[in-house]
This record gives sequence, structure tokens and C-alpha cells, in this order.
Amino acid sequence: MPPFPITRAEISRSRLIGNFEYLRSLLAHAAPGEPGQRCQLLAVVKANAYGNGLSPCAPWLVQAGAKWLGVTSVEEGVAVRRLCPKARILVMRGLLCDEAEALMEAQLTPTVWDSAQLDWLAEAAQRRALAFGSVPVHLEIDTGMSRQGVGVADLAKFLNTLLNLPTLRLAGVYTHFASAEMLDAEQNRQQRSAFRRALEQIFAAGFHPQWIHAGSSATILAQQRESECGLAQTWGAKGLIRPGIALYGYAPAFSGKRAKAAEQARARLQPVLAWKTAIVSTRAVAAGTAVGYDATFVAPAAMRLALLPVGYADGLNRKLSGTTSSSGGHVLIHGEPAPIVGRVSMDLTVVDVSHIPNAAAGDEVVILGEQNGLRVTADDHARWAETIPYEILCAISTRVPRVACE
Ligand SMILES: *Cc1c(COP(=O)(O)O)cnc(C)c1O
Repeated sequence: MPPFPITRAEISRSRLIGNFEYLRSLLAHAAPGEPGQRCQLLAVVKANAYGNGLSPCAPWLVQAGAKWLGVTSVEEGVAVRRLCPKARILVMRGLLCDEAEALMEAQLTPTVWDSAQLDWLAEAAQRRALAFGSVPVHLEIDTGMSRQGVGVADLAKFLNTLLNLPTLRLAGVYTHFASAEMLDAEQNRQQRSAFRRALEQIFAAGFHPQWIHAGSSATILAQQRESECGLAQTWGAKGLIRPGIALYGYAPAFSGKRAKAAEQARARLQPVLAWKTAIVSTRAVAAGTAVGYDATFVAPAAMRLALLPVGYADGLNRKLSGTTSSSGGHVLIHGEPAPIVGRVSMDLTVVDVSHIPNAAAGDEVVILGEQNGLRVTADDHARWAETIPYEILCAISTRVPRVACE
């Protein structure tokens, strides 16, 4: 009997914690000093922990020692606050007017860069009669990604607005790199130097933010020596680096001279999520039989097919559809690759088990994960679907229950 629920994403506690500890050890090399004091990890748990499930991942990361968690919206922050009463939670997307109240209620740390955002926070603070400096904010600097953050040209005006809002306190300053995984990209150097100039201006204006942060998974795995942590230290602040994807066992595709070293570091990470299901039924079909919507696959010979109870509504990408037995993606059954044949439908997918004669209803199917030493990863799915592993993980829909396991 297969375990229930049949289709499920098993989330491994030991792997998540192992990845966190490994990334922390890389940081300790980059920024020697008292562990956890000089430079820390801000564990990014946005997008339902990259599809791995906020619960259980956020509390596990806190148990592993994460003091900071990163989310994208106030809603996510509120959900994390319920799970992790003591963590510091950074909302990394810029604040919207109606979010200020809920943000303060849940004691989340907002990202700001616009005077309107400061006004909304100050008004909410006033309604709550908060005291001087009681709302910590993190200022994002746009150093070249042109997505969020104050441009260096507008920084002085922003700092002036902030000076006149006594309930708000500039607790952190950060930036985000557009090309962190392109290790030799000129853009990284430009963004770093723009960030340094912004910090000079901020400290010269009399602000003393406690936290200075930049960088993501790529930054840590590439062990960038001119580390963001070093930058924080020169200002007497604490550094943070914000890994997301690496916590869950994956990484962006590196390029550049040091890509190999980064790939080696990345090879130490273990995928946290295993996506499994079971065969519903099998059938034999004759040569010439069409399979699935629009008959995109026609059996070239007599075949045995297995029906799987997953489809694109579960997040199985339609680009994994196979018009031949080798053009699509595959799953693992009895430790063998079983190619997807025909279109991935909303709720159903058909795979070729001609070479796995014992495959039968109820047998375990691994969509992502390992079986008898073979492995299918989100990188494989990303290659088949022409996307990135981030999207593959985030796309696994809420219909697939996340099951905590060791
Ligand atoms: C998503 C995100 C990260 C994490 O990026 P990864 O590539 O997943 O490590 C870090 N910082 C910010 C601002 C982000 O939005």
C-alpha cells in the first residue's frame, strides 16, 4: 500500500537544516569572528519557502539558528509570525499603504525607499501612539537592478524625510544584486560600489544602521571574498546575507571564472523536497495507438503505459509532455526512468513502463527525488521545461500536501 496522501511532497528536516548549517559554515570562512555575531544568514522563506512549505520550513530554520527570516508580503510575514513568534521577519517587497497596520501588529520589519512608505508607517505609529524610534525600517538601495529601492540620486531627500519622522528608526540598509550568479559580471562591481557610496552618504548624514546586507545564495556559494560581511564590519554594523534557493538544495546556474568552485560548493546541498505519487493503473496498447490530448504521441510499437494522478494543476509543467519516448521528462518507477508520453493533462499524466514489466497500480512514483540511487531534480525539470529550478519548486501547487519527514 502506498502512503496516504498518494501525491505528496515530502519535506526533509535533516536536509534543510544540513543546508542551513553548510551555508553558515561557508560564511564563517568568509567572515571570521564570533560565529553568528559578525555575519548571519537571513533565511528567505518567501513563496511558501520556495514551494517547500512555510510550515514546516520556517520553524525548522529557526531551530537551526536562523534569527532572521525573509518574506515578500505582509500576509506571508503574518503567517510566519504565527509559526515563529521570536524571529525577526523582513518583508522584502516595498510596503503598500494598507499593509502598515498589519505589519506593526505582527512586528514585521518593513522595506522602504519612498517617502510615501515612510508616511504610512509614521501615521500607523502615531495611531498606536508609539514612542521615539520604535519602528525599525530597512532601506533598500537601488544600485542597478531598477526594481525596488531608492536611487543614489534621491537618497539625500529620502534621508531628510526620515530625519523628520521620529517614530521610525533606520535599523538596516540593503541592496540586491541583479547578476549574482554571473561571477565575473561588471554589474556586480558597479552595484557594490554604488552600495558603498550610498552607505557613506547614510553614515555621513548621522544614521547608524545596525544591519547592512546584500547577496543571496549565489554570493555565499561563490564565497565572494570581498564579502558583504566585510562591508558591514567596516561600518561597525552586523552583516547579513540572504540565501533562499540554496536552503532548499538548489542554486542558480553559475557562470564566470570561479563557477567551478561555486558548483562544487553547491554539490554539497541536498534537495529538501521529494515529490511522489503512485500508479493508478496500467494498460497495454498496440502500435499506432494515440495517447492523450491532441494525440501528440502515437505508440511506435506495442507498449505498456502507466497512469499517474498528477498534472499541471499540481504544478507538473506541461513542457514535460513527450511526443516521443525521449522528448519529454521522466519519472522514476522501480528505480528506472519512465518517460512521460503524450500531453501532461490537468490532473493526469501517462508514462511509458514497457521496460518495467512489474510496474503495477499502487507502486511508488518519484516525480522529484531519489529512487534506488537514481535522482530526478528540479534542475532536470527546469531543463525540460526551459525555466529555472526556482519556478519548478514554486509551481508545485497547494493541492500537493507538504508532509514533514526526517
Ligand atoms: C529572493 C531574494 C533573495 C534570495 O535569493 P536566492 O537566489 O533564492 O538565494 C535574496 N534577497 C532578496 C531581496 C530576494 O528577493
